[in-house]
Amino acid sequence: MTDHLTDPAGSDATAHGFTTRAIHVGQEPDPRTGAVIVPIYQTSTFAQPAVGQHLGYEYARTGNPTRTALQECLASLEGAEAAVCFASGLAAEDAIIRLLAPGDHIVCANDVYGGTWRQLDQVHARFGIESTPVDMTDLDAVAAAFRPTTRYLWAETPSNPLLKVLDLAALAELAHERGAWLVADNTFATPYLQQPVALGADIVVHSTTKYIGGHSDVVGGAVCTDERTATDLAFLQNAVGAVPGPFDNFLTLRGLKTLGVRMDRHTTNATAIAEMLDADPRVAAVHYPGLPSDPGHELARAQMSGAGGMVSFRPVGGAEAATRLCERTELFFLAESLGGVESLIEVPGTMTHASVAGTPLEVPDDLVRLSVGIEDIDDLLADLDAALGAATG
Ligand code: PLP
Repeated sequence: MTDHLTDPAGSDATAHGFTTRAIHVGQEPDPRTGAVIVPIYQTSTFAQPAVGQHLGYEYARTGNPTRTALQECLASLEGAEAAVCFASGLAAEDAIIRLLAPGDHIVCANDVYGGTWRQLDQVHARFGIESTPVDMTDLDAVAAAFRPTTRYLWAETPSNPLLKVLDLAALAELAHERGAWLVADNTFATPYLQQPVALGADIVVHSTTKYIGGHSDVVGGAVCTDERTATDLAFLQNAVGAVPGPFDNFLTLRGLKTLGVRMDRHTTNATAIAEMLDADPRVAAVHYPGLPSDPGHELARAQMSGAGGMVSFRPVGGAEAATRLCERTELFFLAESLGGVESLIEVPGTMTHASVAGTPLEVPDDLVRLSVGIEDIDDLLADLDAALGAATG
């Protein structure tokens, strides 16, 4: 894939660093007023100079300049030709799957986000698109799951909530040899820490609700891919309607500007917390690819520039201790979602991943998931330490 960037100086924006592009690509000062921030184009329609002519925009389901700015910036950051933004991450996933036809087949990771599995298993399966969950850390198992009708390998790395790391380059090769595409959910890593397109992914999907927006104040999704696929997705989006509103695009673009600095801090804080939990006898297991003892560590070092802000662990004392712990923290809010500046804690088995209970994707009921925020690390460590004492004591 080639980059198709423009930047305010009119020079080759691919030459610019990640955070420079996050702040500038698609975000030229407004030509009429000089406003340095892309305006919220809160309009449903656009006046046309003559019948059959328009200035680039006709109706806001089809396109909106605030959305265009976000799309151009995201495409640049993912190293993709184009991006299409949606009303949510699941709306983006729905559009990707609607590119297929009844009879097509998807091989997905066996610990994808619960909502992704629910959509595959309870929505698209009804329309004749079957999915097979498989442990994608086992490339032989992935190859064995292929059918002649397999169109997508659907990978999520690091995965939600077990933080498994998948070998994107190997999966892309495996898919391409069999005429399929690799779809990579890059929500947890973000393009700052991992570049799936450069590793061979054909489609990158995001819940921009998470780190891209970064402030827990907006729900959104995005797909980054080649121009032709983006055109097909934009057609579907216009035909079906899952568009993000201009204010949501504005908030997401504002968050995106600081993605790099936030991810650095999320990673530093998460590393300190994972190390503390790993050394704590009140904790039975820690999942964090930044820990040298983690099974995904070497792969993460090779394909990511940092392990990110998500940590999951299993306290001693089982599911009851996990529940008590989540109700005892003060700074870590008990809440679903992730990727905001504030720290969150949850029990995936009964919260974000409740929809996978009784399916092949079931997560351990004593697993606690942390979305480590950017607060002062000593405060976060003290909060967890106190909650662990109360929960396991
Ligand atoms: N992908 C991952 C990895 C997620 O964690 C989520 C939501 O938690 C989604 C996709 C779905 O995104 P949204 O909630 O924006 O629809």
